[in-house]
Amino acid sequence: ERAAAVAAPVTPGALADGTPVPLLANLGSPKGAGEALELGAEGVGLFRTEFLFLSSKEAPTVEAQQAEYTKLLAAFAGKKVVVRVLDAGADKPLPFLNDAEEENPALGLRGLRALRANEQILRDQLTALARADADSDADLWVMAPMVATVEETIFFTELAHELGLKTAGVMVEVPAVALLAERVLNHADFASIGTNDLTQYTMAADRLLGSVATLQDPWHPAVLKLIAAVGEAGRTHGKPVGICGEAAADPLLAVVLVGLGATTLSMAPAALADVRFSLGRYTIEDARRIAQAALDADDAPAARAAAQAAAAS
Ligand code: PEP
Ligand code: MG
Repeated sequence: ERAAAVAAPVTPGALADGTPVPLLANLGSPKGAGEALELGAEGVGLFRTEFLFLSSKEAPTVEAQQAEYTKLLAAFAGKKVVVRVLDAGADKPLPFLNDAEEENPALGLRGLRALRANEQILRDQLTALARADADSDADLWVMAPMVATVEETIFFTELAHELGLKTAGVMVEVPAVALLAERVLNHADFASIGTNDLTQYTMAADRLLGSVATLQDPWHPAVLKLIAAVGEAGRTHGKPVGICGEAAADPLLAVVLVGLGATTLSMAPAALADVRFSLGRYTIEDARRIAQAALDADDAPAARAAAQAAAAS
């Protein structure tokens, strides 16, 4: 019986009332594709391209990048694949993008900021992605990390469209962009919330520092409020709002995130089964009610407890 259960096809992510919530994988290399698919990933919600080039001294060529992206897109033929352009800096320095010593690298020239300071590297990456896309039948979306302004949103999405990429969005990792999500989504085709950095910047707590780890908790109602604002803006514009930070891998928080307006969830493939099971226990009304209970709490532990109580009632 166990063998039969393992062999059964994994059902797509959905709430108890049938509302689809596509469950996607976070990947750092095309090598993880097979396992993600076996675990039921319906596509890729975050492909972290910087992991391909962490040891490169020089910027990768268009050809070298195209080869990697082609492998990734081939593995996910017919499925959605969201590729993030290089998120260099802070916890993920790349020698060819981050040369200056910074006192506060998390607040420095990282993500899209570093790419704008080295625009040819961004253009090469988008060109490599567009070429790989042209030869594949995956549904490629591209997004930029560490976006803080509407102007940066316009810069990135216009450049991506100009270089031949159909769907260009931004990550919501900086509170400023969550607060202006309504205006950001005038320009971006979608938003994807990176709860790791969004929590770090909302709580002013370094995600790498153990001594402030209790503040680095995505259950904090301040973080949830920002997510709700993005969900609301997504609904207004009829544009997708994904979650690709670690928060999506917490089975109960995943329900809360859907209640706040997330339309897809992306996570480490190992978390997919538990999240799929959890979503299947609640309707969209339940999810909204559980989310509201968490939003109304004063701090992260209280939000978790309130959500648990609401989920049980
Ligand atoms: C995030 O910040 O939540 C995110 C998904 O990006 P990373 O963890 O790679 O910074
Ligand atoms: Mg991030």
